[in-house]
Amino acid sequence: MYVKGVGPQRAAFLQAKGLETVSDLLLYAPFRYEDRTNLKPLRELAPGEMVTVIVEVSSARSKGPRKLGLFEVDFRDDSTGKLRGKWFHGTYLQNVLVPGLRVALYGKVEMDTYSRDLLMMHPEFEVLGEDDDDGDSSLHTGRVTPIYEAAGKINAKQFRVLMRRVLDAVTPVDDPLPPNIRERLKLPDLWSAIKTIHSPEPTEDLRLLNSFRSQAQVRMIFEEFFWLECGLALKRAKAQQLMGLKFELHERVRDKIKAMLPFKPTGAQKKVLGEIAADLASGHPMNRLMQGDVGSGKTLVAAEAAVIAIENGYQVAVLAPTEILAQQHFFYFKNLFQKIGYPVIGLTGSMSDREKGQVKKLIAAGLVKIVVGTHAILQESVEFQKLGLAIVDEQHRFGVMQRLSLMQKGLQPHVLVMTATPIPRTLAMTIYGDLDVSVIDELPPGRKPITTKHVKNDHVDQVYGFLRQEIDQGRQAYVVYPLVDESETQAVKAATKMHQELSEVVFPTYRVGLLHGKMPPSKKEAVMADFKAGQVDILVSTTVIEVGVDVPNASVMVIEQAERFGLSQLHQLRGRVGRGSARSFCILVTEKLSEAGRERIRTMVDSSDGFYIAEMDLRLRGPGEFFGTRQSGLPALKFGNILRDPELLEEARGEAQSFIEHPPSEEALRVGIAYLRENWQRRYGLVQVG
Ligand code: ADP
Ligand code: MG
Repeated sequence: MYVKGVGPQRAAFLQAKGLETVSDLLLYAPFRYEDRTNLKPLRELAPGEMVTVIVEVSSARSKGPRKLGLFEVDFRDDSTGKLRGKWFHGTYLQNVLVPGLRVALYGKVEMDTYSRDLLMMHPEFEVLGEDDDDGDSSLHTGRVTPIYEAAGKINAKQFRVLMRRVLDAVTPVDDPLPPNIRERLKLPDLWSAIKTIHSPEPTEDLRLLNSFRSQAQVRMIFEEFFWLECGLALKRAKAQQLMGLKFELHERVRDKIKAMLPFKPTGAQKKVLGEIAADLASGHPMNRLMQGDVGSGKTLVAAEAAVIAIENGYQVAVLAPTEILAQQHFFYFKNLFQKIGYPVIGLTGSMSDREKGQVKKLIAAGLVKIVVGTHAILQESVEFQKLGLAIVDEQHRFGVMQRLSLMQKGLQPHVLVMTATPIPRTLAMTIYGDLDVSVIDELPPGRKPITTKHVKNDHVDQVYGFLRQEIDQGRQAYVVYPLVDESETQAVKAATKMHQELSEVVFPTYRVGLLHGKMPPSKKEAVMADFKAGQVDILVSTTVIEVGVDVPNASVMVIEQAERFGLSQLHQLRGRVGRGSARSFCILVTEKLSEAGRERIRTMVDSSDGFYIAEMDLRLRGPGEFFGTRQSGLPALKFGNILRDPELLEEARGEAQSFIEHPPSEEALRVGIAYLRENWQRRYGLVQVG
């Protein structure tokens, strides 16, 4: 469709924002609304309020020292009142805010302490009535006015004009939301929602609009979540129709598990194993995410699941994101399975080709039952004789593609994903929505809470004194250094230097070890083995020990430059201690604290609840950053916001689930799926996968 006023230049700006079609444009929602119906005259303004005023520039000037670039503008209106606007680094405004110009200003009214004049610091403003393609001025004032985020040179005002033209020109499409749901939830239909969002009636409640809770906005948010969750529900439903391997948990398997277990499983571990066993016996491929805080005993449950698969005659692959974690798992499984006579083998990228070749032969012949390794296992040349179960640790570091390539290796093997980074429920519902979720919400008995302290860099001597005490009582400690500027090389330097200082100057009589990512695997292994055996008192390390390392006798975790770490990383690191019966400590040493850094440290000191920390992390960083941008797998939402709208997400998920499982009619389901295919595939690629 041709829209008046959109030439090639504007089209390019729109496209850069992902706005390519008329419907993209209609789904481009204002981020804020201003009440320009009942404008206050300047005379009636009071300090403290957020207001919009329509004013004229009476004079403007640069002021004060040049490097501050302070720009001051005096405004007037028909009343006797006055208002001053101030912008630091605002010199560029001198060609914009010229005397005589009419503008809408939005901001917080303050009172100048000296002159007692009313002023606004850095108000937002919109120039009124000078563009030639401005449309009717009633679009911009005298109404509840939508404010759009600019796209290139297209500002909020021009968006209002565009939207008006589009709204006037298009014919409403059918509402895709199933009518029974819309009626039951009393949601407005699509067209009236769209119209309200771009052009709210004067009667609309401004506060609701600005908190994204007007009926119209709620409808759009709900709908977006609804289709997203329908896509995920379809994926789950499809997986449930696939034929999978059927593993029975019969008496012999139970006996084997009993013979393997070094301790009595916790209630939570039993519950989760029950869920897994039911999946394995269902005849459909399992796709389960096992969540649990660090140290909650996920690996033990995974090992039990492995026994079920192996006793049913199949092979098991265990995948870890790093070599060191793969090593760790390798030893863990080897230890556990020694007692019951299962051969375990490791396969990592750092092995020689000859070694790899031998291992591959054993795997192909079915001579090893369980293979533990990094994603080297996913290489095409590795053929399993009978792969029945894949255990994937720390899924979000693997791409989805890697999971798929694994599934193609076997005849739809069961997949169990473990994650020690607790994922806030709302995120789990959007990202892992096609997985079933089990949660281990109980720690093994006898764990003592970990005391977390914050120490400033200049008091680090106290930390060393404390380390001495602990080591003299037979404990061990970690001292961890962050990556600086994402560079392992820098971290290695820092850790190496510190290792030297700690071993030679601070703790000459203790055994201080060094571990970092640039060491050859055999050396890393040797250092870890020494630490585990108690031959090393203090292990200086980069973040390679972040996940999975398990040395129960280590009771102190010192994290240097803790402000450089993200919350979930800090929590992972802290989880390396508190694994034995001794009281454990985590000491966060900081150099320079930003506001956000302070918030992270405070969160760590206040709480050891992984789910709470994950929620805080999500809040502090936002969903996009939470998983890192590259592999986020986060759907791009236009209306919904999982931080702001968790209850709508929850509701939409329930509705989507029952719509897919018990559609009001075959026809309604068919129409819904067709709509999803056509409109959402492009955005989410949801429907075709799996
Ligand atoms: P996660 O993988 O969830 O971080 P692990 O499986 O590594 O946790 O377990 C952490 C530690 O707790 C390990 O030393 C493990 O042997 C031990 N552990 C696991 N389950 C139990 C249990 N039921 N009772 C006692 N100790 C346990
Ligand atoms: Mg673990």
